[in-house]
Amino acid sequence: GQRKPVPVEQILDGALMLVSESFRRAGVALDVAREPELPTIRVARIRIEQVLVNLLQNALEAVAGGAEPVVRLSAAADGQSVRFTVSDNGPGIDDALSEAIFQPFYTGKPAGTGLGLGISREIVLDHRGTLSVESSELGGAEFTVTLPLAAEPE
Ligand code: ADP
Ligand code: MG
Repeated sequence: GQRKPVPVEQILDGALMLVSESFRRAGVALDVAREPELPTIRVARIRIEQVLVNLLQNALEAVAGGAEPVVRLSAAADGQSVRFTVSDNGPGIDDALSEAIFQPFYTGKPAGTGLGLGISREIVLDHRGTLSVESSELGGAEFTVTLPLAAEPE
């Protein structure tokens, strides 16, 4: 995809627009925490939005059926990078699986494709960023996408 300078705000809005209907339909609260002054980054906008959509969709599936389902999307920046996190209060991810889940075709779902995280990591690495998972203070999983701010060659 072509890289252009995009305000981080626009990436958040684009991803939120794409998932808002599924969250509404599932009755799951999506909590958004964005810093007031987010920078512009040079990315393939559609692809980074796709990463956030994949993570949000997984979080939604992870909390479905829970008593008080919560998914949180946050965005923050420092002088070096932008960090997006998607966290949930679902069952979380066993430590032993924290790398396996990024393998293409790994799925824990009866009808999953297992492609979302593999593609997401590829897109992020292609932007010289990182995608990782740990436990969320909400009780489930927390995925973090970090993208460098410095201009990079395509
Ligand atoms: P799919 O969603 O089609 O299964 P993904 O690559 O998106 O494929 O995810 C792979 C697997 O990682 C999921 O099937 C699930 O087992 C696990 N996973 C991903 N996100 C979460 C999450 N937020 N909470 C718990 N497990 C997750
Ligand atoms: Mg998925």
